[in-house]
Amino acid sequence: MKKRTKRIVRSSLVAFAVFLVVTAVCAAVFVAISLKSAGFGVGAPATEAESVPVESETEARSEYLIDLSDYEKYINPTGSRRDAFLALVNAENAGKAEKELVALGPERSKSDVTLHPYAAMALEAMLMEMEAENVRLINPDTRLTLSVTAGFRDSDVHDEHITGLSVDMHSCAVSDISFKNTEAYGWLSENCWKFGFIVRYPEGKSAVTGVSFRPWQFRYVGRFHAKEIHFNNLTLEEYLKGTK
Ligand SMILES: [Zn+2]
Repeated sequence: MKKRTKRIVRSSLVAFAVFLVVTAVCAAVFVAISLKSAGFGVGAPATEAESVPVESETEARSEYLIDLSDYEKYINPTGSRRDAFLALVNAENAGKAEKELVALGPERSKSDVTLHPYAAMALEAMLMEMEAENVRLINPDTRLTLSVTAGFRDSDVHDEHITGLSVDMHSCAVSDISFKNTEAYGWLSENCWKFGFIVRYPEGKSAVTGVSFRPWQFRYVGRFHAKEIHFNNLTLEEYLKGTK
């Protein structure tokens, strides 16, 4: 071949090679975008049922103002412990009396309240965080400070307090629906899931729970489940029905 022809052939080959590379890159980008929008991307929900606003575990932790790393394993039990606190106790389901109990300190409760250690530790973390966030714990109407009034109780197998995972707390003279108007309740109802708790008998759910709204009663289930229950607006009854 002539020198000139050789040069033309070579530059054509180079141009063709460049064309192939560009095409391959474009195709790869297109496939990646298609897969991502189809839900195959990293971190995308695997099913529709899971497409609730879920934050990563580190994000949940970063919402605490104080360092609660010592409490993390109680707030968010993992492994076989994750599902260990879902006992359903209601009119239809009897509970077994919890044996593993610890007493709350006098600074948290005026009465002798005991709870399962996991619930007690998670509760302590929650109360510490409330203080750190300067949530108003005094009820201006009663001038009483938020305090825990009940924990474990085994007088009735159909009373959830038998689990040692149920906590009553309020700033009223007695357990009273007016507690819902306090700043403390407002904070608790929005934030208790971050510590593994749920409002056990929410407003408007008495047909499901069989119990009218109790703003003072919280139930420890662990953060994994509390988060699902909170963001899906469920009761424990509805949640357990859905996961079975
Ligand atoms: Zn109660």
